[in-house]
Amino acid sequence: METSEKKKRKILKWQIVLMVLGFLLLAGGITMIVFFAISDTINPALIIVGCFLLVFAFIMLSYAFLPLIQRGMIKINKQIIEENKEDLKDISSTTGEIASEGVKKVAKSAMEGVNDADKIYCKHCGQLIDSDSKFCSFCGKEQ
Ligand SMILES: [Zn+2]
Repeated sequence: METSEKKKRKILKWQIVLMVLGFLLLAGGITMIVFFAISDTINPALIIVGCFLLVFAFIMLSYAFLPLIQRGMIKINKQIIEENKEDLKDISSTTGEIASEGVKKVAKSAMEGVNDADKIYCKHCGQLIDSDSKFCSFCGKEQ
């Protein structure tokens, strides 16, 4: 089993390798393009290979710096959340209030619906009957 510390070190090693290779390719590509620009004879191989090297260099460097960029993004996001904590709290509590208000309304209307009808459920058969009736109108048993 590989420990996370070892894994981290392995990733870091690859990052450094990619960074070094990327910078070497970048330097090589720029040198070739500069040579192409200053030389008297036009050598298309120089500009083609130079551009290829630059493209590879950018890919390698972006891979090398990706974890750093991601870490930076996470840091910025955390900072934004930290700075807007109060607003976020307000939003969540307002949303909660709206939701609980809705639940209360539904519960209230459900209760009122039963109360308005002034009815009860029979203890024996479960049918809805008048609350003041002594006997159930369905099963005839005393309430
Ligand atoms: Zn009944």
